[in-house]
Amino acid sequence: MSRNKVAIITGGSRGIGAETAKLLALNGYAVCVNYLQDDAAAQSLKREISDMDVKCIAVKADVSRFSDVSRLFETVDKELGSLSVLVNNAGILRQQCRLDEISEDRFSEVLRVNVMGCFLCCKEAVKRMSTKYGGVGGAIVNVSSRASVTGSPNEYVDYAASKGAIDTLTRGLALEVAAEGIRVNGVRPGLIYTEMHASGGESNRVKRLENKIPMQRGGEPSEVAEAIYWLVSNKSAFVTGSFIEPSGGL
Ligand code: NAP
Repeated sequence: MSRNKVAIITGGSRGIGAETAKLLALNGYAVCVNYLQDDAAAQSLKREISDMDVKCIAVKADVSRFSDVSRLFETVDKELGSLSVLVNNAGILRQQCRLDEISEDRFSEVLRVNVMGCFLCCKEAVKRMSTKYGGVGGAIVNVSSRASVTGSPNEYVDYAASKGAIDTLTRGLALEVAAEGIRVNGVRPGLIYTEMHASGGESNRVKRLENKIPMQRGGEPSEVAEAIYWLVSNKSAFVTGSFIEPSGGL
Protein backbone atom coordinates (compact mmCIF):
# COMPACT_ATOMS: atom_id res chain seq x y z
CA MET A 1 0.00 0.00 0.00
CA SER A 2 1.29 3.43 -0.88
CA ARG A 3 2.27 6.04 1.69
CA ASN A 4 0.21 8.74 -0.04
CA LYS A 5 -3.19 9.27 1.45
CA VAL A 6 -5.33 10.61 -1.35
CA ALA A 7 -8.81 9.23 -2.02
CA ILE A 8 -11.55 9.69 -4.61
CA ILE A 9 -15.08 8.76 -3.57
CA THR A 10 -17.47 8.77 -6.52
CA GLY A 11 -21.02 9.77 -5.60
CA GLY A 12 -19.50 11.07 -2.39
CA SER A 13 -21.80 13.99 -1.66
CA ARG A 14 -24.46 12.10 0.30
CA GLY A 15 -25.49 8.71 1.70
CA ILE A 16 -22.86 5.96 1.90
CA GLY A 17 -20.35 8.01 -0.12
CA ALA A 18 -20.51 11.00 2.23
CA GLU A 19 -19.98 8.81 5.32
CA THR A 20 -17.04 7.14 3.58
CA ALA A 21 -15.51 10.52 2.68
CA LYS A 22 -15.79 11.67 6.30
CA LEU A 23 -14.29 8.45 7.68
CA LEU A 24 -11.35 8.59 5.26
CA ALA A 25 -10.80 12.26 6.16
CA LEU A 26 -10.85 11.38 9.88
CA ASN A 27 -8.11 8.87 9.11
CA GLY A 28 -5.91 11.45 7.41
CA TYR A 29 -6.86 11.10 3.75
CA ALA A 30 -7.07 14.10 1.47
CA VAL A 31 -10.43 13.54 -0.12
CA CYS A 32 -12.04 14.22 -3.49
CA VAL A 33 -15.81 14.16 -3.24
CA ASN A 34 -17.29 13.50 -6.68
CA TYR A 35 -20.97 14.16 -7.39
CA LEU A 36 -23.39 14.61 -10.30
CA GLN A 37 -25.61 17.65 -9.73
CA ASP A 38 -26.26 18.73 -6.13
CA ASP A 39 -23.70 21.52 -5.73
CA ALA A 40 -25.08 22.60 -2.34
CA ALA A 41 -24.72 19.13 -0.77
CA ALA A 42 -21.20 18.71 -2.16
CA GLN A 43 -20.06 22.16 -0.99
CA SER A 44 -21.54 21.62 2.47
CA LEU A 45 -19.68 18.30 2.85
CA LYS A 46 -16.50 19.91 1.54
CA ARG A 47 -16.78 22.58 4.25
CA GLU A 48 -17.44 19.93 6.92
CA ILE A 49 -14.34 17.95 5.90
CA SER A 50 -12.15 21.03 5.47
CA ASP A 51 -13.12 22.02 9.02
CA MET A 52 -11.44 18.76 10.12
CA ASP A 53 -8.16 20.29 8.84
CA VAL A 54 -8.06 17.86 5.95
CA LYS A 55 -7.71 18.83 2.32
CA CYS A 56 -10.96 18.29 0.45
CA ILE A 57 -12.12 19.11 -3.06
CA ALA A 58 -15.55 18.57 -4.60
CA VAL A 59 -15.61 17.72 -8.31
CA LYS A 60 -18.82 17.63 -10.32
CA ALA A 61 -18.45 14.90 -12.95
CA ASP A 62 -20.67 12.25 -14.50
CA VAL A 63 -18.82 8.96 -14.00
CA SER A 64 -20.51 7.47 -17.06
CA ARG A 65 -18.75 9.98 -19.36
CA PHE A 66 -15.13 9.39 -20.29
CA SER A 67 -14.31 13.11 -20.63
CA ASP A 68 -15.75 13.85 -17.17
CA VAL A 69 -13.84 10.95 -15.60
CA SER A 70 -10.56 12.12 -17.20
CA ARG A 71 -11.13 15.62 -15.83
CA LEU A 72 -11.98 14.22 -12.38
CA PHE A 73 -8.72 12.25 -12.13
CA GLU A 74 -6.59 15.05 -13.63
CA THR A 75 -8.03 17.50 -11.10
CA VAL A 76 -7.04 15.16 -8.29
CA ASP A 77 -3.52 14.72 -9.76
CA LYS A 78 -3.12 18.49 -9.77
CA GLU A 79 -4.82 19.47 -6.54
CA LEU A 80 -4.27 16.53 -4.16
CA GLY A 81 -1.34 14.54 -5.59
CA SER A 82 -0.83 10.81 -6.19
CA LEU A 83 -3.98 8.77 -5.81
CA SER A 84 -3.90 5.87 -3.36
CA VAL A 85 -7.59 5.01 -2.86
CA LEU A 86 -10.60 4.86 -5.19
CA VAL A 87 -14.08 4.11 -3.86
CA ASN A 88 -16.47 3.45 -6.75
CA ASN A 89 -19.66 4.33 -4.94
CA ALA A 90 -21.75 6.33 -7.48
CA GLY A 91 -24.81 4.32 -8.39
CA ILE A 92 -28.43 4.83 -9.46
CA LEU A 93 -31.68 2.95 -9.54
CA ARG A 94 -35.02 3.90 -11.05
CA GLN A 95 -38.75 3.35 -10.37
CA GLN A 96 -39.67 -0.13 -9.11
CA CYS A 97 -41.23 -2.27 -11.85
CA ARG A 98 -40.95 -5.58 -13.71
CA LEU A 99 -38.31 -6.18 -16.38
CA ASP A 100 -40.94 -6.12 -19.15
CA GLU A 101 -41.76 -2.53 -18.16
CA ILE A 102 -38.17 -1.27 -18.26
CA SER A 103 -37.40 0.94 -21.28
CA GLU A 104 -34.23 0.46 -23.32
CA ASP A 105 -33.13 4.00 -22.44
CA ARG A 106 -33.46 3.33 -18.73
CA PHE A 107 -31.66 -0.04 -18.97
CA SER A 108 -28.78 1.57 -20.77
CA GLU A 109 -28.63 4.56 -18.37
CA VAL A 110 -28.42 2.27 -15.32
CA LEU A 111 -25.67 0.19 -16.93
CA ARG A 112 -23.79 3.28 -18.11
CA VAL A 113 -23.68 4.90 -14.67
CA ASN A 114 -23.26 1.80 -12.51
CA VAL A 115 -21.04 -0.38 -14.71
CA MET A 116 -19.35 1.91 -17.25
CA GLY A 117 -18.73 4.47 -14.47
CA CYS A 118 -16.99 1.87 -12.32
CA PHE A 119 -14.99 0.57 -15.30
CA LEU A 120 -13.81 4.04 -16.40
CA CYS A 121 -12.76 5.03 -12.88
CA CYS A 122 -10.97 1.70 -12.28
CA LYS A 123 -9.05 2.20 -15.52
CA GLU A 124 -7.88 5.70 -14.56
CA ALA A 125 -6.93 4.50 -11.07
CA VAL A 126 -4.91 1.51 -12.34
CA LYS A 127 -2.93 3.80 -14.67
CA ARG A 128 -1.93 5.87 -11.66
CA MET A 129 -1.49 3.21 -8.96
CA SER A 130 0.02 0.19 -10.77
CA THR A 131 3.73 -0.48 -10.34
CA LYS A 132 3.58 -1.45 -14.03
CA TYR A 133 3.07 2.25 -14.81
CA GLY A 134 5.55 3.54 -12.20
CA GLY A 135 2.96 3.90 -9.42
CA VAL A 136 3.34 2.73 -5.84
CA GLY A 137 0.13 0.73 -5.46
CA GLY A 138 -3.21 1.48 -3.87
CA ALA A 139 -6.65 0.14 -3.02
CA ILE A 140 -9.94 0.15 -4.91
CA VAL A 141 -13.29 -0.64 -3.33
CA ASN A 142 -16.34 -1.12 -5.54
CA VAL A 143 -19.76 -0.62 -3.99
CA SER A 144 -21.97 -3.43 -5.24
CA SER A 145 -25.17 -4.59 -3.55
CA ARG A 146 -26.89 -7.69 -2.16
CA ALA A 147 -29.14 -7.10 -5.19
CA SER A 148 -26.42 -8.77 -7.29
CA VAL A 149 -27.28 -12.00 -5.48
CA THR A 150 -31.06 -11.60 -5.01
CA GLY A 151 -31.73 -10.21 -8.54
CA SER A 152 -34.30 -7.67 -7.18
CA PRO A 153 -37.36 -9.27 -8.88
CA ASN A 154 -40.34 -6.92 -9.38
CA GLU A 155 -38.21 -3.96 -8.30
CA TYR A 156 -35.18 -3.32 -10.51
CA VAL A 157 -33.61 -6.26 -12.29
CA ASP A 158 -31.59 -3.75 -14.35
CA TYR A 159 -29.97 -2.37 -11.18
CA ALA A 160 -29.33 -5.88 -9.81
CA ALA A 161 -27.71 -6.94 -13.10
CA SER A 162 -25.46 -3.88 -13.02
CA LYS A 163 -24.28 -4.88 -9.55
CA GLY A 164 -23.64 -8.44 -10.79
CA ALA A 165 -21.36 -6.94 -13.42
CA ILE A 166 -19.52 -4.97 -10.74
CA ASP A 167 -18.92 -8.16 -8.75
CA THR A 168 -17.37 -9.85 -11.77
CA LEU A 169 -15.32 -6.78 -12.69
CA THR A 170 -14.05 -6.58 -9.10
CA ARG A 171 -12.88 -10.18 -9.07
CA GLY A 172 -11.27 -10.04 -12.51
CA LEU A 173 -9.47 -6.75 -11.95
CA ALA A 174 -8.28 -7.87 -8.51
CA LEU A 175 -6.50 -10.84 -10.07
CA GLU A 176 -5.10 -8.78 -12.95
CA VAL A 177 -3.40 -6.24 -10.71
CA ALA A 178 -2.69 -8.30 -7.58
CA ALA A 179 1.04 -8.42 -8.39
CA GLU A 180 1.15 -4.69 -9.21
CA GLY A 181 0.49 -3.36 -5.70
CA ILE A 182 -3.25 -2.77 -6.10
CA ARG A 183 -5.91 -4.49 -4.02
CA VAL A 184 -9.46 -4.52 -5.40
CA ASN A 185 -12.38 -5.50 -3.20
CA GLY A 186 -16.10 -4.93 -2.98
CA VAL A 187 -18.90 -4.37 -0.50
CA ARG A 188 -22.42 -5.69 -0.99
CA PRO A 189 -24.66 -3.62 1.30
CA GLY A 190 -28.17 -4.77 2.11
CA LEU A 191 -30.94 -2.27 2.89
CA ILE A 192 -29.36 1.00 4.02
CA TYR A 193 -31.20 4.15 5.14
CA THR A 194 -30.34 6.64 2.37
CA GLU A 195 -32.19 8.83 -0.11
CA MET A 196 -31.54 6.35 -2.93
CA HIS A 197 -34.79 4.48 -2.28
CA ALA A 198 -36.77 7.61 -3.15
CA SER A 199 -35.45 7.28 -6.72
CA GLY A 200 -37.16 3.88 -6.82
CA GLY A 201 -40.43 5.56 -5.82
CA GLU A 202 -40.47 4.34 -2.21
CA SER A 203 -38.59 6.54 0.25
CA ASN A 204 -39.86 4.37 3.12
CA ARG A 205 -38.65 1.09 1.56
CA VAL A 206 -36.08 0.15 4.20
CA LYS A 207 -38.56 0.70 7.05
CA ARG A 208 -41.18 -1.40 5.23
CA LEU A 209 -38.78 -4.31 4.81
CA GLU A 210 -37.13 -4.20 8.25
CA ASN A 211 -38.91 -7.36 9.44
CA LYS A 212 -37.46 -9.34 6.49
CA ILE A 213 -33.92 -8.52 7.63
CA PRO A 214 -32.55 -11.15 10.07
CA MET A 215 -31.26 -8.37 12.35
CA GLN A 216 -34.69 -6.66 12.12
CA ARG A 217 -33.32 -3.27 11.07
CA GLY A 218 -31.82 -1.46 8.12
CA GLY A 219 -28.19 -0.39 8.05
CA GLU A 220 -26.71 3.04 8.61
CA PRO A 221 -24.50 4.52 5.86
CA SER A 222 -21.71 4.76 8.45
CA GLU A 223 -21.83 0.97 8.93
CA VAL A 224 -21.08 0.49 5.23
CA ALA A 225 -18.38 3.16 5.40
CA GLU A 226 -16.63 1.17 8.16
CA ALA A 227 -16.46 -1.91 5.91
CA ILE A 228 -15.14 0.19 3.03
CA TYR A 229 -12.54 1.77 5.27
CA TRP A 230 -11.34 -1.62 6.52
CA LEU A 231 -10.88 -2.74 2.91
CA VAL A 232 -8.74 0.29 2.02
CA SER A 233 -6.74 0.20 5.24
CA ASN A 234 -3.61 -1.83 5.87
CA LYS A 235 -5.62 -4.03 8.24
CA SER A 236 -6.81 -5.83 5.10
CA ALA A 237 -3.33 -5.89 3.50
CA PHE A 238 -3.68 -9.58 2.43
CA VAL A 239 -7.26 -9.25 1.16
CA THR A 240 -8.05 -8.85 -2.54
CA GLY A 241 -10.85 -9.99 -4.83
CA SER A 242 -13.12 -10.30 -1.77
CA PHE A 243 -16.46 -8.92 -0.63
CA ILE A 244 -17.90 -7.77 2.68
CA GLU A 245 -21.69 -7.81 3.08
CA PRO A 246 -22.94 -5.16 5.52
CA SER A 247 -26.51 -6.41 5.31
CA GLY A 248 -27.74 -7.49 8.74
CA GLY A 249 -27.79 -11.07 7.46
CA LEU A 250 -30.07 -10.42 4.45
P1 NAP B 1 -27.55 8.07 -2.82
O1 NAP B 1 -27.86 8.50 -1.44
O2 NAP B 1 -28.65 8.04 -3.84
O3 NAP B 1 -26.35 8.97 -3.37
C1 NAP B 1 -25.92 8.79 -4.69
C2 NAP B 1 -24.67 9.61 -4.94
O4 NAP B 1 -24.21 9.30 -6.28
C3 NAP B 1 -24.90 11.10 -4.90
O5 NAP B 1 -23.72 11.71 -4.42
C4 NAP B 1 -25.08 11.46 -6.40
O6 NAP B 1 -24.75 12.81 -6.69
C5 NAP B 1 -24.08 10.51 -7.02
N1 NAP B 1 -24.30 10.20 -8.43
C6 NAP B 1 -25.42 9.73 -9.03
N2 NAP B 1 -25.20 9.56 -10.35
C7 NAP B 1 -23.91 9.91 -10.58
C8 NAP B 1 -23.10 10.00 -11.74
N3 NAP B 1 -23.56 9.65 -12.96
N4 NAP B 1 -21.82 10.45 -11.62
C9 NAP B 1 -21.33 10.81 -10.41
N5 NAP B 1 -22.06 10.76 -9.26
C10 NAP B 1 -23.33 10.32 -9.36
O7 NAP B 1 -26.91 6.60 -2.83
P2 NAP B 1 -26.53 5.59 -1.64
O8 NAP B 1 -27.76 4.93 -1.18
O9 NAP B 1 -25.61 6.24 -0.69
O10 NAP B 1 -25.75 4.48 -2.50
C11 NAP B 1 -24.36 4.54 -2.73
C12 NAP B 1 -23.95 3.23 -3.39
O11 NAP B 1 -24.35 2.14 -2.55
C13 NAP B 1 -24.63 2.99 -4.75
O12 NAP B 1 -23.71 2.39 -5.63
C14 NAP B 1 -25.74 2.02 -4.41
O13 NAP B 1 -26.10 1.21 -5.50
C15 NAP B 1 -25.09 1.22 -3.31
N6 NAP B 1 -26.06 0.53 -2.41
C16 NAP B 1 -26.96 1.25 -1.70
C17 NAP B 1 -27.86 0.56 -0.89
C18 NAP B 1 -28.91 1.27 -0.07
O14 NAP B 1 -29.79 0.58 0.50
N7 NAP B 1 -28.87 2.59 0.02
C19 NAP B 1 -27.83 -0.84 -0.84
C20 NAP B 1 -26.88 -1.51 -1.59
C21 NAP B 1 -26.01 -0.82 -2.37
P3 NAP B 1 -25.93 13.95 -6.76
O15 NAP B 1 -26.60 13.96 -5.39
O16 NAP B 1 -25.20 15.21 -7.07
O17 NAP B 1 -26.87 13.50 -7.84
